[in-house]
Amino acid sequence: MVPKDDSYYANSDIAIIKGLGTTYTSSFYKKGIFTLFDLLLDFPFKFLDQTKITKIADIRPDGGFYFIDAHIVAVQNVLTRRVKMLKMMLQDDTGKIEAVFFNLYPNQIKAYTRGRRILAFGPVKYNDYNGVVNFTQPTVTFLEEGDEVKPQERMTPVYHAVEKVPQAAIRKAVNGVLQSLHAIPLPELLPQKHNPFNLTLSQALDLCHYPFPPDIPNQKIIPEKTEGFKRISYEELIAYQLTLLSVKRKNEQHNAVAIDKALEETESFIKSLPFELTGAQMRSFKEVQQDLSSQKPMLRLLHGDVGSGKTMVAVLAAIQVAKSGNQCVVLAPTELLAQQHYQKFKALLDPCGIRTELITSSIKGVKRKKLLEDIESGEVQVIIGTHSVYQEEVHYRNLILAIIDEQHRFGIDQRIALLKKAPSDITMHQLVMTATPIPRTLQLALFSDLDVSTLDELPKGRKPIITAVMPDTRKAEVIKRLDEVCHQGTQVYWVCPNIEENEDETESVKTTYKELKKRLPDLKIGLLHGQLATNEKNKVMKAFLEKEYDILVATTIIEVGVDVPNASIIVIEGAQRLGLAQLHQLRGRVGRGALDSYCILIYKSSETDVNDIAMQRLSIMRATTDGFKIATEDLKLRGPGEVLGNKQTGFDIFRVVDVNRDFELIDIARNAALDIIHNDTETCRALIARWFPKFKV
Ligand code: ADP
Ligand code: MG
Repeated sequence: MVPKDDSYYANSDIAIIKGLGTTYTSSFYKKGIFTLFDLLLDFPFKFLDQTKITKIADIRPDGGFYFIDAHIVAVQNVLTRRVKMLKMMLQDDTGKIEAVFFNLYPNQIKAYTRGRRILAFGPVKYNDYNGVVNFTQPTVTFLEEGDEVKPQERMTPVYHAVEKVPQAAIRKAVNGVLQSLHAIPLPELLPQKHNPFNLTLSQALDLCHYPFPPDIPNQKIIPEKTEGFKRISYEELIAYQLTLLSVKRKNEQHNAVAIDKALEETESFIKSLPFELTGAQMRSFKEVQQDLSSQKPMLRLLHGDVGSGKTMVAVLAAIQVAKSGNQCVVLAPTELLAQQHYQKFKALLDPCGIRTELITSSIKGVKRKKLLEDIESGEVQVIIGTHSVYQEEVHYRNLILAIIDEQHRFGIDQRIALLKKAPSDITMHQLVMTATPIPRTLQLALFSDLDVSTLDELPKGRKPIITAVMPDTRKAEVIKRLDEVCHQGTQVYWVCPNIEENEDETESVKTTYKELKKRLPDLKIGLLHGQLATNEKNKVMKAFLEKEYDILVATTIIEVGVDVPNASIIVIEGAQRLGLAQLHQLRGRVGRGALDSYCILIYKSSETDVNDIAMQRLSIMRATTDGFKIATEDLKLRGPGEVLGNKQTGFDIFRVVDVNRDFELIDIARNAALDIIHNDTETCRALIARWFPKFKV
């Protein structure tokens, strides 16, 4: 019986494909292609055009591929010490052209006899060195005189290499699965009104693998730009939005714990601060407070420019929760950041009588046991850490709020694991934060399930950071200047991303470290990179904070959150390599105190990739320090992936969609999703099951 759902394609192992064999099958497995559906989604990266026979007289030696029907009129076997080449002359009723083959086997050579008719398909180009125009290594099919030639109707796909599997075998396998779509169709899930492409999924898949030839001859077909491909991305985007919305709905099936809105403790904490909260901080906190006082689970995004004081809003929320007798976790994407949050939270919360603890994988033995006990008994009210916080062994007494820093670095599944730590029948309130501001269009696209609080105001008294852009030929000058300012007590970050392609980031930072030590012998210089053990990293950061170092040479590891107010200069080498969001994040490491601050962006003058876009980025950096403006520009220049930073692991869940490329589809996908979730439960369920089976609802 023919199944009515996706199960045949989603569950059938590719091993069932006739003639695929175990060797080929395991090669596909190695590429992560296990099921028929996986194979259908393994799209070609380019196409060959065998849809029309070209007359020899019409061939242009442009390196393009041509398909001809001709006779062999001369054959010459060229054997020298260096080359084994078979040269032949081909002729049709319009002209002649040479074809060359290298390293053929004797058997193959024998087949090429004068007078034989062949179909040849291959690239034709003009050879500079001998002035001859020829076919190089065309693919050949032998024909009999009376044979009728039928060119392909569709383009021929070329797939990314699969170890040991020839293209022809990949084609055959994929084609077989495409053919089976006629007998066992994939259910069409997109309602007509939400399908602007007018293609079913099956049709779209078919066209992705076998598109029609382009209207303009020899025009390249870019797979990702075809209608079929967009149709499929669009469906996955809808499914993604449906997943977000359903997870949210599911969360709302249970109440959250509502806590008292006006707590005296929070008021007096605010009064005790050495500075005044900004209007934006106050407003955002009020929004959080309002949410927390309701049984409807909070799901709020807090975003704002670097240095706008997001942490303070999070601290206030933590106080609110702890003082109401409950617990809260702060989930950070890296240990360094968790450590920093811990120090900040602890310093602020200790005086309020709130106990804050850090939980990491490096806390072991008796200490860990005691920590886990204190968390379970509720003695610890604020728990900070990376993924450790939602591990199985951690039990909470009454965890009602999760603060998730840089949530886009976490997948939905990680968020769900954390949410399970709430008391049974209770949904946790969630406050998620991003390191940089998120333009509105992007909010709608990717965080459409969240309410939003925006910190659009910097604390008073911040001095603007002065940014300079210069080529690496002026590095010596910069070093000399650092020598002077460091002797006056200024602290400096010196950041090195990997300078060469493939070069290890750690290597380049070590080289720079040695170089600076040599050139600045009187200064104290520290080194920070990802390969150091966590406690090593913490030691280095602490030493820098306590002014034991004048200069901290670091990889981009310091990008996020690191807060050392006395550091007022940041030098960024290889700046042409970094995206705007990352540069802005890094620059935000300075300008945190009362000192005049500088950011010096050094680009490699010899580097080939100092292209227009890189220079454009650097000049935007020089022109503005407004993170909202930068994020908007970034969105235009590079797309949302860049805006959210490089490590967007949270979005790896997509199979076809690329948030950068498919950005324009996001808005309509969201509208479709909103309609579907309200009016068509079955479709909603089926779409999620197809694209995000882990979140089956
Ligand atoms: P970010 O939004 O980048 O996470 P932080 O929360 O790290 O910013 O705050 C940056 C610095 O500004 C910290 O040293 C913090 O103590 C300080 N800060 C926060 N709010 C204010 C304020 N209202 N006035 C002055 N300084 C503030
Ligand atoms: Mg921060």
